[in-house]
Amino acid sequence: MAKAKTKKKHTKSAVVTPTPVVLAPLKWRRSPNFSSRRGTKIDLLVYHESAGHYQGDIGWLCTPTVYGPEGNVISGPDASATAVVREDGGEITQLVHVKDKAWTQAAFNARALGIEHSNITAKGYSTEAQLRESARFFAWMCWKYDIPVRIARAGQGPGICRHLDLGAAGGGHTQCGMGDHDFERWMHMIALEHTRGGFRKTYLI
Ligand SMILES: [Zn+2]
Repeated sequence: MAKAKTKKKHTKSAVVTPTPVVLAPLKWRRSPNFSSRRGTKIDLLVYHESAGHYQGDIGWLCTPTVYGPEGNVISGPDASATAVVREDGGEITQLVHVKDKAWTQAAFNARALGIEHSNITAKGYSTEAQLRESARFFAWMCWKYDIPVRIARAGQGPGICRHLDLGAAGGGHTQCGMGDHDFERWMHMIALEHTRGGFRKTYLI
């Protein structure tokens, strides 16, 4: 993280966040696992967590998928993500263009950006540093793509959800995502970042 600058700023709303964060440096590595959104508007941001390390996750999600004659998967992940957030939140790699559909949450792919969070903690969810950086990242996506900072329960309506909220239509990944308490806490962090604003105009491509 960059050195904190002492900077006093008076704002009407006096919004205070514990540690001001900026968007993590963004790297680009193209995954071959994507398809067209066919112009579907993005209105859903989906939180995912992997059970692996950052570089391993990226390597796997960028591995070409080989299909058999019936469309069955012979090898490869048959999956991808729009971007992967490193364990410490200090770097993000984008794998699929925003205009394209990453294969991350089955029936919800066309309207969603799916973001993986690398993590192998016993707790099974993100580190605090990762959550803080990710909150800034999700706030940027809400701002950029005009998505409200609200929980989209079961993927209903625009907003943010965890993969586990999407049920069978989302691929049935019932373990993918933090518990309710932490999810609500993280949503609050996103709301604070969204209010704090001051976003750079370009980031994801
Ligand atoms: Zn997931």
